[in-house]
Amino acid sequence: MTTVMPLAVMTYVALAAYCARKVVEALELKQQDQILEESARSQSLVNQKESLYVERLRLENQVLEILTLYEIMKEITQSLSEKEAFEIFKNKLGDHVNFTECLLVHPLCDEINDYKSSTGCFSFVLQGKTGTLGYLVVKGMPREHHEKFMILGHQFALALRRIKFYHEIERIAITDSLTELYTRRYAVERFQEELKRSQARGMKLSFLMVDVDHFKTLNDRYGHLMGDQILREAGKLIRENTREIDIAGRFGGEEFCVVLPDTDRPGARFAAERIRHAVEAGVIKAYDAEVKITVSLGVATYPEDGTRLEELTDKADWALYRAKREGRNRICVFGVYD
Ligand code: GH3
Ligand code: MG
Ligand code: MG
Repeated sequence: MTTVMPLAVMTYVALAAYCARKVVEALELKQQDQILEESARSQSLVNQKESLYVERLRLENQVLEILTLYEIMKEITQSLSEKEAFEIFKNKLGDHVNFTECLLVHPLCDEINDYKSSTGCFSFVLQGKTGTLGYLVVKGMPREHHEKFMILGHQFALALRRIKFYHEIERIAITDSLTELYTRRYAVERFQEELKRSQARGMKLSFLMVDVDHFKTLNDRYGHLMGDQILREAGKLIRENTREIDIAGRFGGEEFCVVLPDTDRPGARFAAERIRHAVEAGVIKAYDAEVKITVSLGVATYPEDGTRLEELTDKADWALYRAKREGRNRICVFGVYD
């Protein structure tokens, strides 16, 4: 027997099924939206992770570069010689940059123009505070290494500046500002070294004391500015009339000294006479005045006159005193009576 459902029930069932489908559809849509949202969020996290990774690599590279610069600077600054600093720089450069040759070119060297115009040559100006310190010339360096080389080049320029500054300070410390000869302290230090060397090698060595004659009178007559000019000129003449290996210093006031390595008595007398004659022949000009001066010289020689520095300076001083007593503008050799 067939069951006949009342119409109302059938309508109700159909409506319920329809509603249920709609609900399922709505739920499915919502779920899809959520999935899309989640996948977008996860994609943005992946992107973030990637950009953080890139940033980390960039920072690591920067740290490496800073450490490299620090290492290079640390090694270069240990050296106080330009040549040595450049060798260290060149060796370190090879660890970071490809090149076939690297040269340090003097600022006054004309060849720099040839390097600048030659292909395959990269030149970098080493800039000092007041001018060009020189050039770095690199051959066979790929273009992509130029920037890194320039960073290292700047560091080398700083190191070079420091080395030059150190040498300038050292020069000032041992130079008498008025005469440009060595200071007494440095001249005595060098005298001691030369004496030791002469003792070790069995060589002779002579010491000259030079004193401007009647300097007090000249000072009183022409004034202290002219006095200073006389000292400057006397210093210049002494420098011009001694050898490269001789050590000329201002001993104090208007007194000078010259250490003559590897020089015996006759050689020392000859050197002293060259100075005496040059001073006598010169004319010193300052402002409107022209002045002629003379010097007296005392000579002592190692080992005849002593083996210690004090003995030799004392004996040269005695000889000088004798030269003054005997009439000035002359040379007296200790222990030799003409
Ligand atoms: P002598 O021929 O015996 O050497 O006589 P002198 O006049 O040269 O020697 P003295 O020792 O009597 O005088 C040296 C003078 O040198 C005294 C001092 O005022 C002067 N003097 C020392 N140092 C300087 C200086 O740096 N500049 C100037 N202008 N004068 C100086
Ligand atoms: Mg004098
Ligand atoms: Mg004197």
